[in-house]
Amino acid sequence: MINTKHYENIKEELKLTNTLLVAVSKTKPVEDIEALYRLGQRDFGENYVQELVDKQSALPEDIRWHFIGHLQSNKAKYIVPFVHLIHGVDSFKLLQEINKQAHKANRIIDCLVQVHIAEEETKFGFDEGELKQLFTSDLSGLTNIRIVGMMGMASFSDNKEKARGEFRRLKSFFEVYKPLVTSNCVLSIISMGMSGDYILAIEEGSTLVRIGSLLFGKR
Ligand SMILES: *Cc1c(COP(=O)(O)O)cnc(C)c1O
Repeated sequence: MINTKHYENIKEELKLTNTLLVAVSKTKPVEDIEALYRLGQRDFGENYVQELVDKQSALPEDIRWHFIGHLQSNKAKYIVPFVHLIHGVDSFKLLQEINKQAHKANRIIDCLVQVHIAEEETKFGFDEGELKQLFTSDLSGLTNIRIVGMMGMASFSDNKEKARGEFRRLKSFFEVYKPLVTSNCVLSIISMGMSGDYILAIEEGSTLVRIGSLLFGKR
């Protein structure tokens, strides 16, 4: 069951700041995705490769699928033929593998670099030093990927100011590397904000929010 009221309200809020809504449908049935699709939603986010592959084949062609989970290199090949944007790129090795598979599929895949901004060790992503290493290395050989922005997740906490600080950090990294435009690196997307913190994330400069439970109910 989807929450139509939440959907309409969130769409209204996001319109004011021109922020993209990715509806996070992980663990939810295709019927729920269809219901949101009928209301006009086209961007959906999934965390698990097999689930995404199954849903993609069962649902309309014009859905833009966002992979927002942790992607293992050996599974990139399953989603590369159709995925719209990969949010969680957290290693150079993964970037190379996506590039290789994209070349085979004759596609250019847009990717976001995941940045580790939360306190928890469990969250994936590049730290400050690794980001620097990535953006100063020669990416020109990776002709079938484009780095189009950054993604981050704030700590699980009720402390709003802490989350705000973490979002601000992501935005500041984005500003540092944004001027560094190359043939396959043009940063324009900041993917941050989920059901519990998306308003804060927008205040801190998010251009894309990933919202699940507010739209689809608890998982
Ligand atoms: C599950 C998930 C979301 C959505 O979380 P909600 O709190 O349900 O809105 C967003 N981003 C990522 C990376 C997720 O794994």
